[in-house]
Amino acid sequence: MADKIEKQEELVRCPLCNSYIRAAEGFTCPRCRKGPFCRKHRITGRRECVSCVFEQKHKEILELRQAEKGLKDFLKLLQFIFLLFAVFFITMRLGLMDFVEFLKDSVVTDYLAYFAVIPVAGYLLFFIILYNQRSRIKEIEGEMHTMEQKRMSL
Ligand SMILES: [Zn+2]
Ligand SMILES: [Zn+2]
Repeated sequence: MADKIEKQEELVRCPLCNSYIRAAEGFTCPRCRKGPFCRKHRITGRRECVSCVFEQKHKEILELRQAEKGLKDFLKLLQFIFLLFAVFFITMRLGLMDFVEFLKDSVVTDYLAYFAVIPVAGYLLFFIILYNQRSRIKEIEGEMHTMEQKRMSL
């Protein structure tokens, strides 16, 4: 029993900041199995150490950025489709239909305005998704900034 108390009272050094802590007060990171760290390197609500959480967030941001690029390309495609519709629509309205023979009896022309709604709605939808992703990236970057400060202020 005395041995156990002694062990808990035993001073160990935190591998991150080298400060002395009581063995019982330190925590071991379940991810990198390093430790015992002092409480300064713990993120509220997380079991991992600050370095591991930081690394995870970094990866998350990279993935989000990649998805963002894909979304942007898709938005460009929608813009292009909409532009095509606009050109057709204007052509139709200006009564240039005679010059565009193939459109004359096409069903597409009757519903052109309705079809044009699809890329617009799609654009809006994906723009909202993109906007949400951006705020998520900003949020994570903010978290990472706080963590970085936490790591630096040792
Ligand atoms: Zn420490
Ligand atoms: Zn860790």
